[in-house]
Amino acid sequence: MSEKAIVFIDGSWLYKCRSILFSKLGEENFEIDYAKLPRLICEDVANSLDEDVSLVRTMYFGTIPTARTGFNTAKQYSFYDFLEKSCGYDTNIHEVDVGGDDNRMAGSWVNVSLATNLVYYAALPNVMDIAIIVSDDPDLAPALRRVRSLGKRVQLVEAHSSAATPATLSSCRRIDDFPTIYLDDHAADVKLIRERITRTCKLCGREEETTWAGTDFYCSQCRGRHRNV
Ligand SMILES: [Zn+2]
Repeated sequence: MSEKAIVFIDGSWLYKCRSILFSKLGEENFEIDYAKLPRLICEDVANSLDEDVSLVRTMYFGTIPTARTGFNTAKQYSFYDFLEKSCGYDTNIHEVDVGGDDNRMAGSWVNVSLATNLVYYAALPNVMDIAIIVSDDPDLAPALRRVRSLGKRVQLVEAHSSAATPATLSSCRRIDDFPTIYLDDHAADVKLIRERITRTCKLCGREEETTWAGTDFYCSQCRGRHRNV
């Protein structure tokens, strides 16, 4: 019998940690292979456990600003659609009314939502054996202790940081069961390799060069409109 794993991704942390992955490979920018990432982590857990690990679900937590002038939310919505439709993620996106303290508010929303789902799935019988946490936020520590007290095991996924940062999640005690996985150690595997191809816009039929691999393609002009049709 294989161990059932659910991956919980703090989307804003994963986005921020890209720069660590880039510098690891000596590059300025590349895309992360989101479809591959959860499976890659599960393989790593399976190796350290020496048991089969089956990926039950990938939960992704993110925010979207609702009132920032000049910010094109269409691109972000398409990205979340892509995660859901093409990568099979279960996305949990919260619309944040941007104020002066927006970053802090967005972070706390992600943490509360992630922690709530974490404890919920841990409490359901026979759904999850291992919780895989892709985040470095120490605010998640109490929820992880609770998950472990319910008999579930916890795997943390972080990235090495060169800067002197405040305490990360992996420095908290009694919250995990395996050695932390560092994403930057897997930078080359996490990097998305794909070619630019010409695709036809689903709305207007115009052809455009793109690296977009999602099911539906909308050209740069139609991208903002397709959500309203
Ligand atoms: Zn178009």
